[in-house]
Amino acid sequence: MRANINYNHLKESYLFSEIARRVSNFSKIHPETEIIRMGIGDVTLPLCSSVVEAMKQAAEDMGKADSFHGYGPEQGYDFLRERIQAYYAENDVALELSEIFVSDGAKSDLGNILDLFDKENTVLIPDPVYPVYVDTNLMDGRKIIFADANENNGFLPLPDDSVLADIIYICSPNNPTGAVYNREQLKLWVEYALRNHAVILFDAAYESFIVDKDLPRSIFEIDGAKKCAIEFCSLSKTAGFTGTRCGYTVVPQTLEFDGIQLNHMWLRRQTTKFNGVSYIVQKGAEAVFTKDGREQIKENIAYYRKNAKIITSALDKLGIWYTGGKNSPYIWLRCPNGMDSWTFFDMLLSEIGVVGTPGAGFGKNGEKFFRLTAFSTNENTAKAMEKLRLLLEKDDGYH
Ligand code: PLP
Repeated sequence: MRANINYNHLKESYLFSEIARRVSNFSKIHPETEIIRMGIGDVTLPLCSSVVEAMKQAAEDMGKADSFHGYGPEQGYDFLRERIQAYYAENDVALELSEIFVSDGAKSDLGNILDLFDKENTVLIPDPVYPVYVDTNLMDGRKIIFADANENNGFLPLPDDSVLADIIYICSPNNPTGAVYNREQLKLWVEYALRNHAVILFDAAYESFIVDKDLPRSIFEIDGAKKCAIEFCSLSKTAGFTGTRCGYTVVPQTLEFDGIQLNHMWLRRQTTKFNGVSYIVQKGAEAVFTKDGREQIKENIAYYRKNAKIITSALDKLGIWYTGGKNSPYIWLRCPNGMDSWTFFDMLLSEIGVVGTPGAGFGKNGEKFFRLTAFSTNENTAKAMEKLRLLLEKDDGYH
């Protein structure tokens, strides 16, 4: 047996463990300091009542012979896929049911989709980035090129015809930068993909945070995207499903490479390697799309949005450059005074007990940036921002 030595090319994923180590060391020495966590990428509000009730009812169904469900369809139950179809229709995106695949979350599908692509393909990934895109391709040994996201392009890199790529990752609203592509910018990517016979893997995990009506929530709002894109969605941040696990992936019927429809390949892949999401979870997911469910999750998102507003208002007052926060739960700020991100991390921890995420953990272009998230409580977010204001106003030199 020979192991997949591509795994040797993975960098140790030390970001969150290193953060935990530094916080724990600090707390041992300063047990009196209250720690406020502003780096968490997990949700903190519980599931909404519509979802909980639907899952309770589904559990009851499973306990009775006449409503018991065994293996379900690998692509998901129609009751959920029809809801997802209707959700897309609200933004004038017409999907066939066969184009929607229910999954246990976006992360699995983002990794598993690579089964469909030759390992000789070149992959284009923005930097900084959600690390899963890089690592899943390194595991397969694919060549990766990076698209620079930086302050000059608002952390939204655009296609460059001198760079040839077969597989392109786009995450909008973006993790970690919170930046969101507008329609014209996404159109450029779609045109580039069509011109170069490339596929776009569009990660829409944060689409529910978009408030600006003009911003696209789905790549399929762009003409031509159904011939070049696959979209990954998640109920994790939309409805607090990080621990419940449910998402969906849209693979258009019109997506064809080397004479093979990717939709057929994905169906074949899923029916071979995946046995579907549990009935109980899919019933919970269905409830997310009901009128009551929609209203309840909107309240939760509004709560997180209030945190984002507290953060961006504080940064505005301090004159600190940032992206995100309006249509995203992430705020990506430039570290004051040209500091590198780990130095800024240590400073916030030691001086005010606030924990964020150093940008360096997301790629080289994150070295001088820092991610704050809106998933804390309103009280703690306000407290953390007041402490940040007092700290940075102490010394104008920080700017
Ligand atoms: N895509 C992005 C950009 C994310 O930030 C995350 C989770 O943080 C995921 C996908 C994973 O989502 P899921 O919980 O559905 O696996």
